[in-house]
Amino acid sequence: MSESDDCLFCKIIAGQIPSSKVYEDETTYAFNDINPKAKVHVLVVPKKHYANVAELAAGDPTELAHIVSIAQNIADKEFHGAYRLVFNTGLDAGQTVFHVHAHVMTGEKLDE
Ligand code: 5GP
Ligand code: ZN
Repeated sequence: MSESDDCLFCKIIAGQIPSSKVYEDETTYAFNDINPKAKVHVLVVPKKHYANVAELAAGDPTELAHIVSIAQNIADKEFHGAYRLVFNTGLDAGQTVFHVHAHVMTGEKLDE
């Protein structure tokens, strides 16, 4: 069994678990967070499984830049280009799903 066989976000990307899709292309999938922390709270994930943002940055920096540009596009549409981009990394930082995901929070003025 590979790492991704037991990964919630790999299953969402494969369509085995339903999600509310915001954007999709060949390499990347974006969907609404099930427990939103802002008016608009989207998770942007590479279709290829990487455990965290450091692994993605080392393995595919172009995809990391692509994820940032998708976040920008969502915020351009939802809130004049303003957004918060968060990659929780490690259990003690609150990472609960070990398939890298950008939290894009936007759509309203955010608390500091
Ligand atoms: P983390 O805590 O790992 O940074 O973020 C995981 C995020 O995934 C959380 O914000 C959580 O609400 C979201 N999440 C967990 N399970 C599901 C799910 O089944 N569907 C969706 N759309 N989001 C999920
Ligand atoms: Zn995965």
